[in-house]
Amino acid sequence: MVVITLQRDKCIGCNYCVEMAPNLFQMSKKDGKTVLLKATNAKGFHTLKSPDHTLVENGELAVKACPVKIISIKEV
Ligand code: SF4
Repeated sequence: MVVITLQRDKCIGCNYCVEMAPNLFQMSKKDGKTVLLKATNAKGFHTLKSPDHTLVENGELAVKACPVKIISIKEV
């Protein structure tokens, strides 16, 4: 299982994660912050759990690209 987490409140809307992983992230036109697609929100932590391990490659690029370090990814 791949688990990706976004601490959305701290997003500065730079768009890097969308460029690195458009299959995972999309900018919100409402508030200018990124949206982790298909994620569930628990107290500001948006989490996507998926059995698709092909998400890891560009997920990790997004983790590295985020200037405020609010994206994490792990394989469990
Ligand atoms: S890279 Fe980080 S700060 Fe930039 S839009 Fe994505 S989550 Fe927000």
